Amino acid sequence: MKRVIIDQQRCKGCGLCAQVCPRKILVLSGMININGYHVVACTDEELCMGCGNCATVCPVTAFEIYKPVPIAAAL
Ligand code: SF4
Ligand code: SF4
Repeated sequence: MKRVIIDQQRCKGCGLCAQVCPRKILVLSGMININGYHVVACTDEELCMGCGNCATVCPVTAFEIYKPVPIAAAL
């Protein structure tokens, strides 16, 4: 299940998310978006703990974070 969605076209390449990720799975990639910024990518979504730090610090709200929820708890 995908847990981290990054809207790379919104990314400004500031690197704040990479600094606060406790799992160090966010990195500035070699890709450049339509605005000319190096964009962040997630190296291993399975390691994401869903803490939301990246979404909190991102100035352009580029993140959507999803946590798996047991079906019984969701009802
Ligand atoms: S939710 Fe937390 S662990 Fe997952 S990518 Fe963001 S900062 Fe890293
Ligand atoms: S905090 Fe947001 S704008 Fe900055 S590098 Fe991460 S995704 Fe891009």
